[in-house]
Amino acid sequence: MNAPAVAIDWNAVRADFPLLTREVHGKPLIYFDSANTGQKPEAVIAAVDDFYRRHNANVSRAVHALGTEATEAYEGARTKLAKFLNVRADELVLCSGTTFALNLVAYSWALPRLRPGDAIVLTRMEHHANIVPWQLVAQRTGATIKVAEIDELGQLDLPQLYSLLTPEVKLLALTHVSNVLGTVNPVREICREARKRGIVSLIDGSQAAPHRALDIAAIGCDFYAITGHKMNGPTGTGALWARREHLAQMPPFLGGGEMIKEVRFEGTVFNDAPHKFEAGTPNIAGFVGLGAAVDYLSALGMSHIEAREQALLDYATRALSEVPGLRIFGRAPEKAAVISFLVEGAHAHDLATLLDLEGVAIRSGHHCAHPLMHHFGVPATCRASLAYYNTFDEVDAFVAALTKVRTLLA
Ligand code: PMP
Repeated sequence: MNAPAVAIDWNAVRADFPLLTREVHGKPLIYFDSANTGQKPEAVIAAVDDFYRRHNANVSRAVHALGTEATEAYEGARTKLAKFLNVRADELVLCSGTTFALNLVAYSWALPRLRPGDAIVLTRMEHHANIVPWQLVAQRTGATIKVAEIDELGQLDLPQLYSLLTPEVKLLALTHVSNVLGTVNPVREICREARKRGIVSLIDGSQAAPHRALDIAAIGCDFYAITGHKMNGPTGTGALWARREHLAQMPPFLGGGEMIKEVRFEGTVFNDAPHKFEAGTPNIAGFVGLGAAVDYLSALGMSHIEAREQALLDYATRALSEVPGLRIFGRAPEKAAVISFLVEGAHAHDLATLLDLEGVAIRSGHHCAHPLMHHFGVPATCRASLAYYNTFDEVDAFVAALTKVRTLLA
């Protein structure tokens, strides 16, 4: 991470987010659930609004002016996103989010390839979206799933992971950043090890893309999935990046309009990638909004965002460590601003409900990571996830509220 080159007025940045000015239960909202979904700046809301007010039409079909504008706006978003991720635009499939992206790889790449005896390697810290599609593939192909474990800090046990990468492994699928532990995995090194052994690698970048500069080309993976709503863009937007050679070989996942060159009853000629994987009318306005979100993040600078969130994380971790009976899950040195915790004697949902009454929005539950909860032997944790638009004062208010409600539950 590079040191910030310029000072940013983070209060002015926060003022770009209209929702953050509202109250909840008569208290100023403290939104600490950005790992669940990010809030949207005015620029994103305005871009979606402007699209529907002035440019709304379908893409790729109409030759009229609005159709051209809509197509340019949609393809423009692809170009912006590709630049943001440092990949080629024609290798970027636009889709509804990470869940779709991972299922696309599962059904279109893995299902036709995997055979009985083959194996897929996952990690203990995967989100269900990066587990269940592989279980469905395994059930249908006879492949098996092997799991890389974590150490006491919540980091991947790399020697154990590498020991799993045996010749029958065809795919290694892992998250870049854990949505529960905040752990940032050394994906570049891991993908290099996979590639050396001829294993295809897939990275779930849902929790990485909103928080750090990404250079997917440098990571050296085969597939990388992102979701737009965690990047301050609209829900129902996301993308799969895949190496061109994979996209060329993969059959379409969904059939329909937009993904074809010519259809006859005798057979269909499919469009080229990435359009071959984008059947039907896409979320055009959503991608216009995501393009605006990418512009917004780029203007702030991802290195500034990362530094700001790191400072908030360090401050919040120190403050929470002072709360009696509080246990933090995940203390990796390389960590994003996600803090999962439990307080002795208090159920996670009770804590989150009482904090909500204080205006503090945190998540409680299994965070779509049952295997990780089993590992820790708990049904649920609380999770405070911070973003650059949060403040140190909010951290103080959150810790004060937590200290107060903790005594109610003790
Ligand atoms: N992977 C991770 C690590 C996530 O945090 C999430 C969202 N919670 C997903 C996948 C799924 O993303 P989406 O629901 O946007 O497809």
